[in-house]
Amino acid sequence: TIRTRFAPSPTGLLHIGNARAALFNYLFSRHHGGEFLLRIEDTDKERSTQQAVDVIFDGLKWMGLDWDNEPVFQSTRQGRHAEVVQQMLDSGHAYRCYCTAEELAAMREKARAEKRPPRYDGTWRDRDPSEAPEGMPFTVRLRAPQEGESVVHDLIQGEVRVANAELDDLILLRSDGSPTYLLAVVVDDHDMDITHVMRGDDHLINTFRQKMIYEALGWKTPAFAHLPLIHGPDGGKLSKRHGAQSVIEFREQGILPEALDNYLLRLGWGHGDAEILDRAEQIKLFDVDGIGRSAARMDYRKLDHINGVWMRRADDQRLTDDVMERLRARQQAGTGPNMALEGPEGEGARKRILALMPGLKERAKNLEELATNASFAAATLPLAFVPKALKILTGEGREVLQAIRPQLAALDPFTPEGIDSTLRSFAEARPCKLGAVAQPLRAAMTGTTTSPGIDLTLAALGKDEVLARLDSALV
Ligand code: GLU
Repeated sequence: TIRTRFAPSPTGLLHIGNARAALFNYLFSRHHGGEFLLRIEDTDKERSTQQAVDVIFDGLKWMGLDWDNEPVFQSTRQGRHAEVVQQMLDSGHAYRCYCTAEELAAMREKARAEKRPPRYDGTWRDRDPSEAPEGMPFTVRLRAPQEGESVVHDLIQGEVRVANAELDDLILLRSDGSPTYLLAVVVDDHDMDITHVMRGDDHLINTFRQKMIYEALGWKTPAFAHLPLIHGPDGGKLSKRHGAQSVIEFREQGILPEALDNYLLRLGWGHGDAEILDRAEQIKLFDVDGIGRSAARMDYRKLDHINGVWMRRADDQRLTDDVMERLRARQQAGTGPNMALEGPEGEGARKRILALMPGLKERAKNLEELATNASFAAATLPLAFVPKALKILTGEGREVLQAIRPQLAALDPFTPEGIDSTLRSFAEARPCKLGAVAQPLRAAMTGTTTSPGIDLTLAALGKDEVLARLDSALV
């Protein structure tokens, strides 16, 4: 069976490049009925806090990428890593290197002077270890092949080659006894029975070295698939100035997880012209042959578009819950309008927002915008008015509101249909355009100039609240 893994280092954030690698590994294993494993590469003790690990767990769960089995923590496997290195020393595939920091610095200096990449010169490769002074610290290096070339048959990049003369004897174990990344990844992938290693193509160069370790150990090499990185919209390295980069940032900005998944999948993977794919379709269609070879460019506008599609498909209750959360956060931060969000009044606000949701979600491209557009329904009087709304509420608009108030007060039941025909006959009799009635009403109800249809808006607020808002706007 196929077994893939996601092997992030806990850095404190889940970058979308990594999130996409996780998604691809997940879909690939699910497509083939295999397993998707999680390994936390927490060997850097300073950075690997519980909080940084939770960022990964939470991010994956939010994206709906559930992994199989218990996560493996690389830091717990040091003993096993050392054991494998010993095995390589015993078989002669590795050797102890007693070079001092000064000697290694001199090698780098020499390379710089000769304008070539630095390279370990093999000092201890064939030297008798008994020549080393007693108690001298050492590293363990791989006795790497020096002739010929190494070839990787990458499922995405094709056949990639490098001359072995360009690869030096890499370090397997540091002088403090800790394993290097290159060694640990190989041992862990082998012990976890990983069949396919799918990761960012910044790791492609490591793959040649890892393959040498597999071969030295006589282990079967997994298949490799290196994903092109995600670049910024301008083709340069994706950076802060382009926009959000981590899963948490996208969540905070109001991107739905299914939209982020859908977008990241389509970024660099295609199946005909299929654009919007749900999880079941993704699993059904995903395979490595749909992955492109060139770097993908992040397109925030397209993400917004896909998010809009998923918002319109999303359940209204769920969107309303999310909006209430966001409004509470604003209230706490003191950034929203004055709102009533708790107790019976809060329940009332929730009901209004739920009733408005079919109209609201048509217009917003993310949940933050949705919350902004919904906030009027939870606002307490007097409303804060935007300048344009204030202008509408003077002169002609004010007169219209005064004239229509008794008709709305008399309307029973207070339904969208009833409201619509009241406004229409009012406009006909006056006579004026429907907009000349709807716009002042909208301004008085929302404090702004946009909202879902005016009939829906008034009905959602309810008659008492509509009259209260009219009176408040007319004082
Ligand atoms: N821990 C490595 C990283 O976060 C990935 C290792 C791998 O996928 O082989 O870059």
